[in-house]
Amino acid sequence: GDLFGAGKMFLPQVVKSARVMKKSVAYLEPYLEAEKAAMAGAGTLQTNGKILMATVKGDVHDIGKNIVGVVLQCNNYEVIDLGVMVAADKILQTARDENVDIIGLSGLITPSLDEMVHVAKEMKRQGFTIPLMIGGATTSKAHTAVKIEPQYEHGAVYVADASRAVGVASTLLSETQKSAFLAEVKAEYEAVRQRRAGKDEAKHLVTIEQARANATPIDWTAYTPIAPARPGINVLDVPIDALVPYIDWTFFFHAWQLRGRFPKILDDAEKGEEARKLYADATAMLDRIIGEGWLKARAVVGLFPANSVGDDIEVYADTERHGLLTTFHNLRKQGKQPQGHYNECLADYVAPKDSGVADYIGAFACTAGIGIDAKLMEFEADHDDYHGIMLKALADRLAEALAEYLHLKVRRELWGYAADEDLDNAGLIEEKYQGIRPAMGYPASPDHTEKDLLWELLDAEKNTGIWLTESKAMVPTAAVSGLYFAHPQARYFAVGKLNRDQVEDYARRKGMALTEMERWLGPNLAYEPE
Ligand code: SAH
Repeated sequence: GDLFGAGKMFLPQVVKSARVMKKSVAYLEPYLEAEKAAMAGAGTLQTNGKILMATVKGDVHDIGKNIVGVVLQCNNYEVIDLGVMVAADKILQTARDENVDIIGLSGLITPSLDEMVHVAKEMKRQGFTIPLMIGGATTSKAHTAVKIEPQYEHGAVYVADASRAVGVASTLLSETQKSAFLAEVKAEYEAVRQRRAGKDEAKHLVTIEQARANATPIDWTAYTPIAPARPGINVLDVPIDALVPYIDWTFFFHAWQLRGRFPKILDDAEKGEEARKLYADATAMLDRIIGEGWLKARAVVGLFPANSVGDDIEVYADTERHGLLTTFHNLRKQGKQPQGHYNECLADYVAPKDSGVADYIGAFACTAGIGIDAKLMEFEADHDDYHGIMLKALADRLAEALAEYLHLKVRRELWGYAADEDLDNAGLIEEKYQGIRPAMGYPASPDHTEKDLLWELLDAEKNTGIWLTESKAMVPTAAVSGLYFAHPQARYFAVGKLNRDQVEDYARRKGMALTEMERWLGPNLAYEPE
């Protein structure tokens, strides 16, 4: 643990060491218990402290949390891991019952940010005084400083990654260092808040009308959309071995905190040896996933007639475009743009209804995580975090690979708008093809609630087994979903900050109360909601 904190050891080594430790402890535990009983309370096991960890309500992502848990245990902290989708009440009740020293919250999707604020408020209301640690991909020092820390005066500290967790925890539990550290954090977060308050983000935005006047210029008279070869709903079972060539390994190494591009990372002077071992273990597990049928992959693809109406996209049941299946709502970039840059919106990439051009849209949801839970439970019972984390990381990669595989199949066959495309795997990973597959909750379409419409349109739960939590996280976690746009000018962008005029208009179009809409779009608001 010390070596990892000092940057002299890599994460896979730590997790493997932890496995040795956990298996040893599990072996010794009956003897320790017997001895303790014999000595009648004379000795108790000494740890550095008790830390409760949980992925917050509505969220299911836990690779990062599990890694932090392992690293803390390596450093002699007792970790009580409540798992995923844990409501505030359960977190706080357990914290009280178990008399823990620190609460650690984790989450990956943006709605979890709001849930963490809720937990902090509840800690204050219920009179807690123990510190709170915040971690996870969308969390940040800025969010912790601006939204969480002001709600709870006894310490809310952002932890950037697993290598920092032990340092923060030990300082928070040190009688001599705690108060100075918390004072330092408070001062630093106050400075972050001051800087934010002085920024007036709305100043850099144009009105929604001005933004619409600067939409992506697409000449629809010069474009003839290709009708899908296989319109409607297509359900596909895809063998896992077909996905292996599409895996983007760079992101696999990221999950293990080994940063660098694949395959170059395998020859890296510093990380190469560990990267090669990790890769060998991963490919060995992939062989077992395939050979022993640990995971199954399933997908649903829908291809439909569609047209844009303002910033909305209407999806039709038939080529006559009478029956309306659903309407997707999109947000438009509102930041002031320099000459030659546009205030993009995904609706720009679908022909407007009044253009008379018969256009189309695609939608998909896919998972490579069917069956994962049984295997994860086996690893857990065997005290084997290394293989548990490995399986999750591989399932995530397989789901992304499935998204890539499907997109290719859509371009070449199911829709067929790029039937002659011929790219190698590097070309696919660099997304050199025509068209995009933006995912809801990502920068071009940050509103997670649009997934409800997607699920209904594709009957996705029935067709794939993937379901949505109250925060619209997909379960199984190894899942990807989104829309397909075929136009050659379609590209990924970030909607960025939004002003009240657009959010009001968007809430009205969706038939959602403004306050609720503002809650979902919290990270994108350029203003303080009332
Ligand atoms: N090959 C990588 C994929 C990286 S994420 C992997 O294996 O993990 C790339 C995907 O994220 C895109 O295909 C798209 O679905 C989504 N995405 C990326 N940028 C986006 C944006 N700005 N808006 C919406 N979706 C985006």
